[in-house]
Amino acid sequence: MSTASHFSHSYNEARRRFLDAARRAGAVLSAHEHPLKGPDGETLATDIARIGPADARNILGIGSGTHGVEGYCGSGVQTALLSESFARNLPPDTALVLIHAINPYGFAFDRRVNEDNVDLNRNFLDHTKPHPENPGYEALFDAINPRDISPEALAESREKLKAYAEKHGHGAMQHALSAGQYTHPDGVQFGGLKPVWSNRTLRAILRAEMAAAARVVFVDIHSGLGARGAGEMICTDAEASGSFKRMRAWWGEIVRSTVDGDSISSNVPGSIPVCFAEELKGREVTAGGLEFGTVPIREVTVALQADNWLHQNGGHKNPKAREVAKLIRDAFYVDADDWKETVTAQTRDVCAAALRGLQS
Ligand SMILES: [Zn+2]
Repeated sequence: MSTASHFSHSYNEARRRFLDAARRAGAVLSAHEHPLKGPDGETLATDIARIGPADARNILGIGSGTHGVEGYCGSGVQTALLSESFARNLPPDTALVLIHAINPYGFAFDRRVNEDNVDLNRNFLDHTKPHPENPGYEALFDAINPRDISPEALAESREKLKAYAEKHGHGAMQHALSAGQYTHPDGVQFGGLKPVWSNRTLRAILRAEMAAAARVVFVDIHSGLGARGAGEMICTDAEASGSFKRMRAWWGEIVRSTVDGDSISSNVPGSIPVCFAEELKGREVTAGGLEFGTVPIREVTVALQADNWLHQNGGHKNPKAREVAKLIRDAFYVDADDWKETVTAQTRDVCAAALRGLQS
């Protein structure tokens, strides 16, 4: 079967393909069912496929769908890798743990955020403490969240963002736009005020599947940032950290730090690696986001704005829902064979290098 044949057109199809491939690979399966249903009444769940010893010292984890709709990329890659000999030829004392659709609601409804309009990758922080502030977001609120998605409103938004970037620098504009906010539950990039379902579920999965290990690597597959098909391993630790040094040694120049490097991502609070560090204290944890580029950032921004506008205007019941869903899917997923092949090949290389690294 070709690599591209493992990618799907809906959450439901993706789930079925993933589970079929996992069964064929002899994986042990478990699932956490989501309290809500999908657009066609289907069950939503985060599924786990595990291959290798239950008490393995080393674990390689691969995640998909942290950002819902980005699961089209991550799920396809997971399913393709499960179908290859790679998954059946693990080194000794090593287990492979694939976590499918970490945010299944967003995946099924073509949204990057979850059922609470929360960006899961900004939600892993201590909610009993004051939340991080994002003054740039407040200043640009109207531009980031346009009143409608007419060409005029979007052009106005673009001009305001451009003017802000000219005055404060591109990095400051990107930070305002993408580093999350905790003040506008209906706005773009809301990080939530309490741990959401996917946050609680992922913590439970880590405790059940990874707590017995000594060394854990986690590759969370994302899409939407960067040049078409280009992969970057986003490290949320500083370049002086042990995890950054391991990543560089294993994966080379594709590794970039959001703290003091030149990552395509802003330094965001409350992302998935925080969850790994908290739940797997005392183990050697190497967790990063493997981000693949899709379309120019301007199109991604418009898709996010349109998505949020739709959410505020009736959601999937709005007559424009299909149009907006397509805009979002096209921003985060390239439905072309060469793209599917390159994102799979790059993830395969990353995983092979991680398995070698875990043996050293
Ligand atoms: Zn993402």
